[in-house]
Amino acid sequence: MRSRMVEAARSAGRDPASVALTAVSKQQPWEVIAPVLAAGQRVFGENRVQEAKARWGELRLAQPALELRLIGPLQTNKAKEAVGVFDVIETLDREKLARALAEAAGALGRTPRLYVEVNTGEEPQKAGVLPPEADAFIARARDAYGLPVEGLMCIPPQGEAAGPHFALLADIAARNGLTQLSMGMSADYETAIRFGATSVRVGSALFGAR
Ligand SMILES: *Cc1c(COP(=O)(O)O)cnc(C)c1O
Repeated sequence: MRSRMVEAARSAGRDPASVALTAVSKQQPWEVIAPVLAAGQRVFGENRVQEAKARWGELRLAQPALELRLIGPLQTNKAKEAVGVFDVIETLDREKLARALAEAAGALGRTPRLYVEVNTGEEPQKAGVLPPEADAFIARARDAYGLPVEGLMCIPPQGEAAGPHFALLADIAARNGLTQLSMGMSADYETAIRFGATSVRVGSALFGAR
């Protein structure tokens, strides 16, 4: 996986060190996660707060370099728990959640780094702010709530070429001064690297089918 990422970065004229791997461990048994951890992988993605706590809660103490990223939707009533567990939350997508995260960060004295999720395909069933609303939402999250938004995340529509969605996300990030792009999954992480991903979220290609 690492060598394919390095190759994809080089062929796009990018520094391979500028692309990080988020190993998506959701719904995977520990037997397949342990060897990846042992091989030196330190950034893991989870889509549920409870599952992340159960799996990583105690290990975090022994493994301070571990970085946990929430890549699934977050309900406001779990915001405080999520702020306690995750180093990065990639699914900020609405004002109510921005408020809940700001309150939780204040209460816990701990603020995860944040990504705004953008629904680049404008799919009704999918989370994320719509592209035309992204600039205003990013500004509000930063200015009204003081949140450390450092990047954007997207999940392109199934069955469509992902490239245009990655390009759109990169555009929105650039015009808002955001440097981090979480995009690309097992099927399209090499394409995402070509379009400027700074982290790719890879699950099944790394751990096997869920
Ligand atoms: C599950 C998931 C992934 C990983 O998907 P794979 O296709 O298994 O690599 C990446 N991003 C998000 C948001 C996910 O929910």
